[in-house]
Amino acid sequence: MNGTDGDLPAPIPFHRPDVDEAEIEAVVETLRSGWLTTGPRVREFERRFAEEVGAPHAVAVNSGTAALHLALATLELGPGDEVLVPTMTFAATGEVVCYFGARPVLVDSEPETLNLDPGELADRVTDRTRAVIPVHFGGHPCAMDEIMQLAAEHGLAVIEDAAHGLPAAYRGRPVGSIGDFTCFSFYATKALTTGEGGMLTTADEEAAETARMLSLHGISKDAWKRYTAEGSWYYEIVRTGYKYNLTDVAAAIGLVQLDKLEAGRRRRAAIAARYSAGLADLPGARLPVSLGHVEHAWHLYPLRLPEDVDRDRFIRRMKEAGVQTSVHFIPLHLHPFYRETFGYEAGDFPVARRAYERSVSLPLFPGMRDDEVDRVVETVRRLVSS
Ligand SMILES: *Cc1c(COP(=O)(O)O)cnc(C)c1O
Repeated sequence: MNGTDGDLPAPIPFHRPDVDEAEIEAVVETLRSGWLTTGPRVREFERRFAEEVGAPHAVAVNSGTAALHLALATLELGPGDEVLVPTMTFAATGEVVCYFGARPVLVDSEPETLNLDPGELADRVTDRTRAVIPVHFGGHPCAMDEIMQLAAEHGLAVIEDAAHGLPAAYRGRPVGSIGDFTCFSFYATKALTTGEGGMLTTADEEAAETARMLSLHGISKDAWKRYTAEGSWYYEIVRTGYKYNLTDVAAAIGLVQLDKLEAGRRRRAAIAARYSAGLADLPGARLPVSLGHVEHAWHLYPLRLPEDVDRDRFIRRMKEAGVQTSVHFIPLHLHPFYRETFGYEAGDFPVARRAYERSVSLPLFPGMRDDEVDRVVETVRRLVSS
């Protein structure tokens, strides 16, 4: 660099959403159409999304959390029931279980992918266990064969938290077509964004109809159908419902974003490969892996730092050097709510805790340029060895 201290290169954000004129035009067109809430664009988005992930049914909702909540609601979960949840996840995966007064039974990570460890699942199943929620951490699909087999043996529902897993595949099968339910998030930082939004996919037509009904106040669609001839004012509330429907404005963004998914995935994979090539020989560091039988969505690039590096100081110095990073995740069992409510202790899940203490997620988004990736690599290398 020439020049003064003021000439530092522009900071590299942790994420930059991939939104351009096409999304803006789609929103404007929707606003002009006069149809703002759930309507034709939502139905089209559901149809095309289902096709994309090979799912027979898709129900659009206004968050990934809502998708998880509705999947559990179709099971009519109740107080005293238990649901297996990885400790290495975001708040949403555990809290939806608590909505029912049920108990999230936490499970440690498997050290390589940091996904829920299938070897630990069997030990935690009781006669109150109703479901398991595997989270495809960072975009790496979980060990679905093992999970599905255990679920079949014990009669558990498999609800995948695929907030990071789009588009991804496990042994040639797209995530969205494997478990009983798959829940996607369209939050601003996710691979497909509608600002806020989510999708529930399933092969179970009845469950899809129930979820759809619950997403709009528990109002029966059959009642609508039955009485539309006489007048569209009639409806019947058949269960406690929620207000989880997606808007046509959001779906219009989602339809444009769907077309970008594959290019986005390729770019993410290329950035991850560039990181891994640049950091491969960093002594003591552990890089994220992609096992041979999966197609990784590369939502995150969680680097595990060498033992002698002070992680928190490293993050501060990265920021000072113009590189924004993040940490995924603070395991659920370390949070006060989980410790106080369910009696978890810091030492309970050593793999997840250790990974959390060493982890820093590097910027990774399709609009990131190669020179930005290289600058992140150089900055990491410099700060790790000083
Ligand atoms: C983002 C995220 C969610 C929640 O999605 P929202 O759309 O924000 O409700 C759930 N689980 C994981 C792992 C996430 O990263």
